[in-house]
Parts: sequence; structure tokens; C-alpha cells
Amino acid sequence: MRIIFIGPPGAGKGTQAKRISESYGLPQLSTGDMLRAAKTKGTLPAEIAAIMASGGLVPDAYMVELIAERIKLPDASKGFLLDGFPRTSEQADKLGAMLAANGHKIDVVLALDVPEELLIERAIYRRTDKATGHIYHLKYNPPPLGSDLEHRPDDHEDVVRHRLSVYRRMTAELLPYYETQGLLRRVDGVGSVDEVYGRIQRELPEKLAQQEGLRV
Ligand code: ADP
Ligand code: AMP
Repeated sequence: MRIIFIGPPGAGKGTQAKRISESYGLPQLSTGDMLRAAKTKGTLPAEIAAIMASGGLVPDAYMVELIAERIKLPDASKGFLLDGFPRTSEQADKLGAMLAANGHKIDVVLALDVPEELLIERAIYRRTDKATGHIYHLKYNPPPLGSDLEHRPDDHEDVVRHRLSVYRRMTAELLPYYETQGLLRRVDGVGSVDEVYGRIQRELPEKLAQQEGLRV
């Protein structure tokens, strides 16, 4: 099963992708996490780090190469959950071609809908545990006392607003792109994490829903 999560920054993609990944045993491929891990390791080119810090999009060629290498790894051979990729129609075209070359395809595209003011509040109060990568929210899902937390530099309000405008300009066009292919499922992203998770489960193809049935 190959699933794409689409949504503006702060919509809850990472939070929900992690849960689906754990329940269904699919690897979560978050391009944002991959880039941040490379930065921590010191292997991310400085110009790419600067683009991320400003809230812009990393060039398509770099991102397509990153994903092409990642989906070749054995854990992704039976399926995966993409979180943060594709973000442009060029990336979507290249992903489709890459999968088709191996006789594979995307099964479902889940789009999380959240109003703009809530997105900003979700992003600016997001904190990530430095050791585990767990995503918290200072108001809605507060971290345990004493956690060693990171506040992403691109989660400051001015950068978040820029990222939202980049989403509207470059990424939102993927919704009609996948709708035309009959793959798009829109999910209301307002509500508790459990409520949104329940809505997502109802949109997942039968085959995957049965898979969880077997695991329970
Ligand atoms: P994205 O990956 O789409 O940028 P995240 O999953 O990191 O979004 O979520 C952004 C912030 O919103 C995080 O702080 C997260 O804890 C919080 N969050 C996610 N889903 C919900 C929800 N349903 N209700 C309230 N807060 C949420
Ligand atoms: P995210 O963690 O998904 O919010 O991504 C953080 C940042 O990483 C984005 O604002 C971009 O700068 C960069 N990034 C992540 N995924 C992509 C992508 N598919 N295309 C371009 N840039 C990306």
C-alpha cells in the first residue's frame, strides 16, 4: 500500500502519519524529517539548509533524488506513507513515473483540511522531543515536564505565514491533480488527534483496513 499525505504546514500530517505507520506497519517517509536529520549529521548542503530556514521549497531535483534513493530501501518494498512529498506537480510526475517503472502505483492520497488561523496556532506552538522525535503541542498535547524540546526555526510565525503562501502557490494544485486520477480523499483535520485518525481510517482502502483487523 502506497499512501500520500498532503496538507499545509501544521495540518497534522506528521502526527497522523506516525499513527498510521505504527498501526499498519508501513514506513513513514517524511522528507522534512530526512532533511533535518541530514542537517544534524552535517551532510545537508548549506544552501539547502538556508532554503528550509526561510520556509521556501528545496529544488525538485534534490528532493526527487532523495525520495528515489529512500524508496529503494528494503523496508519500503511493500509500501510506504509519504509525508511532505510530493509538494509540486514536477515532484508528483516524477514520483508517478518512478513507481510505474517498477509496476507500482499510489493507492490513496489523503488531504488534511484545516483553516489557516488554526494552522498557524498549531505550527507556532509545535515542539519536538530532541531524543525521540515525538511531536508535541504546547497547548493541545503538552510535553512531559523536563522534556528536551526543539522549536523548529521555520515554526516562527513570519516563516509559517510564508510557508502557507508557498503551499497555496506550489502544492495546493496537487489536490485537483490527484482528484482527476480518482485518488484524492479529503479529511477534515479539525478535532482531536483521535477524531482525525478515525476519519482517516474510514478513507483507507479496504485492503489496508483488513490488514489492521489482522493485527488487532
Ligand atoms: P504537519 O506535519 O502537517 O506540519 P504536525 O503533525 O507536526 O503537522 O502537527 C502540527 C502541530 O499541531 C503539532 O504541535 C501537533 O502536536 C499539533 N496537532 C496535530 N494534530 C492535532 C489535532 N488534531 N489537534 C490539535 N493539535 C494537533
Ligand atoms: P516539513 O517538515 O514537511 O514541514 O518540511 C520542512 C521544510 O523542508 C519545508 O518547508 C521545505 O523547505 C523542505 N521540504 C520538505 N519536503 C519538501 C519537498 N517535498 N519539496 C521541497 N521542499 C521540501
